Amino acid sequence: MSGEGALSVFARAKELESQGRSIIHLELGEPDFHPGRSVIESAAKALAEGRDRYCAVAGLPALREEIAAYLRRTRNISVSAGNIVVAPGCKAALFFAMLALLEVGDEVLYPNPGFPGYPSITLGLGAVPVPFELSSRNHFQPDPSEIAAKITRRTRMIITNSPANPTGTVCADSIQRALAELAVKHDLWVLSDEIYARIIYGGEYASMVSYPGMAERTLIIDGFSKSFAMTGWRLGYTVAPPEVAAALAMVAVNSYTCVAEFTQYAAIDALRDREANTPRMVAEFFRRRQQFVRELNRVPGFLCEAPEGAFYAWVDIRGTGASAEEICRILLEEAGVAAIPGAAFGRAGKDFVRFSFASSVENLREAAARILKASIAWQATSVGR
Ligand code: PLP
Repeated sequence: MSGEGALSVFARAKELESQGRSIIHLELGEPDFHPGRSVIESAAKALAEGRDRYCAVAGLPALREEIAAYLRRTRNISVSAGNIVVAPGCKAALFFAMLALLEVGDEVLYPNPGFPGYPSITLGLGAVPVPFELSSRNHFQPDPSEIAAKITRRTRMIITNSPANPTGTVCADSIQRALAELAVKHDLWVLSDEIYARIIYGGEYASMVSYPGMAERTLIIDGFSKSFAMTGWRLGYTVAPPEVAAALAMVAVNSYTCVAEFTQYAAIDALRDREANTPRMVAEFFRRRQQFVRELNRVPGFLCEAPEGAFYAWVDIRGTGASAEEICRILLEEAGVAAIPGAAFGRAGKDFVRFSFASSVENLREAAARILKASIAWQATSVGR
């Protein structure tokens, strides 16, 4: 398995901070919001009531019912509590779903650039990661004909991620339909990572499960880290056909047993979202996206399309003449802005830098000013070449 670029940049940024340097953190995919007051109160109340015991392996029935109602309301899909298994974070949900479904030697098609866990977990399980490219030529949409050409007898799974980390692309309906047709034709599992489904800047969200023939072959991965700003609570879930849900519960029995009981009561409250925290947070991300993308496009050599979802600016740096690694080094070490070289998300990301805009407007404005000032350094480098 391999590590995550975001976490290593974060570690170096923290080191510089401990030496007294001012660092603007745009490396981690972490909302700068916290869950609403009622969510915290629900956790506190549950703890005070002694809800700190071992509990239902697949997740509290009340939480699984609430997740089913939430998915119906926000994604127009019809699933029941029996399809849902709660896990300690989306990453764990991904890991256990792949553990449950993959055999050694199975091939897994995954987006490149994409979340680094996809190929890493695949390799860790003895399966074979097969990348499909998200290219700027296609506005970072998957190309179904490339995927079709890469399907072999050993292909077992396609991983999709819409909106995508790091590109922010929302997968087009026609592309999702074509991917669904491929999955049905070749009898493949689709692991649909929908962790950013609520963070979109227009339009309705369509889940992979809603296409013909997909209910019996789709696993949705979602959770509370991004949509409810609950990264450290470690709460995620998988929506799966009943026999896969049963297998995931068996994996849970043999690994984490259950997710902390009191956090699940808080999760029920988060899903009801009576204070409308999620729409408010997304509206704020929308404003930041407008401002930050505009400012990034003023930096010589930077080119950034406004993302359709998630909270990342994915900047094409080919025009700078410098490498993404060199730019990120200058930004962190000299300008105090932490960002991630695109190769951390796969080879196809090598000419890009990812900035998270889940940071305050003031921070983003200051970061943009620092980046503009620092750009003199790589302009000098490229002239020197
Ligand atoms: N999937 C994607 C696409 C992500 O970007 C992340 C986190 O950055 C995860 C999964 C993991 O989420 P969690 O924090 O719930 O484990």
